[in-house]
Amino acid sequence: MLIQAEPLKKLVSVILEKGGSSNDEAQVVADHLVRANLAGHDSHGVGMLPFYVKRIQDKLLFPNQTPELVNSDGSILMFDGKRGYGQAIGKMAMEQALEKCRETGLVLMTLRNSHHLGRIGTYGEQSIKAGMVSLHFVNVTDHFPLVAPFRGSDARFSTNPICLAMPGTKKQPPVLLDMATSRIALGKARVAINKNEALKDGLVIDHKGQPTNNPNVMAGYLYPEQKDNPPLGALTPLGKYKGYGLALFCELLGGMLSGGGTIQPENPRHNSIINNMFTLVIDPARMVDVPWMEHEIEAIITHAKASPPANPEEPVLMAGDPERINEKERSVHGISIDDTTWEQILEGGETLGLAREELLLLTE
Ligand code: NAD
Repeated sequence: MLIQAEPLKKLVSVILEKGGSSNDEAQVVADHLVRANLAGHDSHGVGMLPFYVKRIQDKLLFPNQTPELVNSDGSILMFDGKRGYGQAIGKMAMEQALEKCRETGLVLMTLRNSHHLGRIGTYGEQSIKAGMVSLHFVNVTDHFPLVAPFRGSDARFSTNPICLAMPGTKKQPPVLLDMATSRIALGKARVAINKNEALKDGLVIDHKGQPTNNPNVMAGYLYPEQKDNPPLGALTPLGKYKGYGLALFCELLGGMLSGGGTIQPENPRHNSIINNMFTLVIDPARMVDVPWMEHEIEAIITHAKASPPANPEEPVLMAGDPERINEKERSVHGISIDDTTWEQILEGGETLGLAREELLLLTE
């Protein structure tokens, strides 16, 4: 089905409120999720809602938390998210980091023990809006691993994302690199399984560490109740040992330096998602002349984009362009939600006591 962003946000916020969130929290989380769909990242959009509803029922996610400042030392701010909605906790922690950065020019902010932070680019966008540069390294715990280390044959890491954000200029939109350190997300394997399609080369390995195009090696993670799943395989890291190195640093910076912990097996795994984030916020105006900086940003991007495309139908883009293109298109034509996801969202609302007809009315 195709649905416009506003009614979708309304539906999601009503379900979140029924799950115990204040109206303010429901608005922030719903806005984050719908904006992820608008940006084209459906894996981090409203399709996460049924998972959140279950985690609330399992007492692994607690609505209405605020980030607790556990250490403030010079330019260092360390927060504990108390298993609250990451989208709300992350936004509040970033607000405090940005405010401090206006004074100090540089802030190191860590956030541990937050439930799923969602699309990490959202926090980069928050910095960009404040005119700041930011770097984010995130690990994932409380969840079974999905990604193999380079040369390994089983999953030891998660899809540990990194986000780097640079404000734009009057002529040039901001640069926002926001990516997992695995080649694909688990959601892409799920789509291939559901469509009975082979995966492209190099994206997954089987249980012996051998390359395969069969997405079903990931089925045991997604559909553990199915009896005929092949033995568990793993996703591969981005760029071989380079992506593996970056994933490891997400563990060391995001997991370890935040005090939250890494995905090593002594730490708990409740089949929930805890994100720990290491963030640097920098005020570029404290470092270089702003008109010069803006000229350099425009010049380097113009330089990159002037490269003649190898395929005339695919011009050179920069990080952040695909999301802007998606947002423009989806804001007009609506967000496409597959039937299974839509059904799961409605069922999530029903398990909280909302009537399906009431939910459907909100989408009209
Ligand atoms: P992706 O592969 O779609 O894109 C990654 C980045 O590459 C984006 O910044 C995009 O703008 C850029 N890009 C894409 N095509 C480009 C091109 N042709 N030229 C230049 N740049 C281009 O994203 P992904 O790695 O699948 O990650 C998807 C989302 O999942 C992200 O928002 C990430 O934060 C999120 N994520 C979150 C978690 C979590 O635990 N919270 C874990 C993993 C991923």
